[in-house]
Amino acid sequence: MAETQGKVITCRAAVAWGPKEPLVIQEICVDPPQEMEVRVKILYTSICHTDLGTWTGVNEAERAFPRILGHEAVGVVESVGEGVKDVKEGDYVIPTFNGECGECRVCKKEVSNLCERYKVDPMKRLMVSDGGTRFSTTTNKDGGSSQSQRIYHFLNTSTFTEYTVLDSACVVKIDPNAPLKQMSLLSCGVSTGVGAAWNTAKVKEGTTTAVFGLGSVGLAVAEGARARGASRIIGVDANASKFEKGKLMGITDFINPKDLTKPVHERIRELTRGGVDYSFECTGNVDVLREAFLSTHAGWGSTVLVGIYATPRTLPLHPMELFDGRKITGSVFGGFKPKSQLPSFAQQCMKGVVKLEPFITNELPFEKINDAFQLLRDGKSLRCLLQIAKFLKK
Ligand code: NAD
Ligand code: ZN
Ligand code: ZN
Repeated sequence: MAETQGKVITCRAAVAWGPKEPLVIQEICVDPPQEMEVRVKILYTSICHTDLGTWTGVNEAERAFPRILGHEAVGVVESVGEGVKDVKEGDYVIPTFNGECGECRVCKKEVSNLCERYKVDPMKRLMVSDGGTRFSTTTNKDGGSSQSQRIYHFLNTSTFTEYTVLDSACVVKIDPNAPLKQMSLLSCGVSTGVGAAWNTAKVKEGTTTAVFGLGSVGLAVAEGARARGASRIIGVDANASKFEKGKLMGITDFINPKDLTKPVHERIRELTRGGVDYSFECTGNVDVLREAFLSTHAGWGSTVLVGIYATPRTLPLHPMELFDGRKITGSVFGGFKPKSQLPSFAQQCMKGVVKLEPFITNELPFEKINDAFQLLRDGKSLRCLLQIAKFLKK
């Protein structure tokens, strides 16, 4: 049994104190896990665009500070709360921002991964069991002493910390022999992208695909489409530096909207005799979503929206446009049910069905987390892995 079991752990975390303010590495207190909760020692974490979106505070309703962001990680279970049966101290795990209780109506159906109790909720900042937080600080953001202040949770996960507490529904056990750094990618980006292609669009062999936005999520969509035998994968990005990497994920054609004098969808329709079978929006820009929608073939084209839209604007479509037979649907966490489906997805990744190495473009120590944010903002990294703790074994 861990010496720390049942006790408050004092450790370091990167705390967000306000929109666009550099994260502060400081000491925090992490309470023991309550019933059906798990306390995890984080080994590696990385940054996804969704962390950036919340940090910039674009969507005012989502703001809550001080807060510990981060949702892509791999770690090891330090202790579990009462009632937790499927993981135990010492298990290697990945946190997932979209949980699976296994008991609600949605979890019992095959068609959806949006668990009634633990599905992703960007507004959520407190634990389900008692409406409290498990994080607190005794210093203010300048390091001066202050009264104990609670720190909010984020996206069911909060991984920018040496220790975090999660609902057990959001903890997935992984093979201890798996390459741990790469497994962190399954916590969000790669599962989201590959799953959008496999589970949501159900990309078939010999079909055509267009991917808008070639960050980790979009490139993972391409990798998923490649693995399913798509014959043509068109990558669209305003940052030309993403194109080289895209070739590794099977992208056959590149379009930089800045190089065109016509809308992107017209170019894609020209290239594919009327439009692609599937398109994926992975930028979080509603205008791009319209281009993605119009890029598919009338009659059967299918658009999957994956990007997160902070804007209050609604879908940029006229209802009559749906009579052209194009479909549009959203995909959360790639449609994967985390506990029941990720372990076999991880096995497929380990067998090389999906390549994970190319997604880790940078590695930095945890203290450099603000530099890692900047790399993503500047479009200079896919995933920058931050080492928080050392491996306990391996
Ligand atoms: P990223 O910042 O690494 O990549 C975004 C890419 O889009 C960049 O390469 C950028 O150059 C490109 N881009 C931005 N605006 C563009 C435009 N107008 N035209 C062309 N290209 C443009 O982000 P990421 O981590 O890959 O995440 C992508 C999106 O997916 C984000 O909106 C993120 O919040 C969302 N996301 C959704 C889920 C989900 O479950 N649905 C999960 C994870 C991330
Ligand atoms: Zn993410
Ligand atoms: Zn459920």
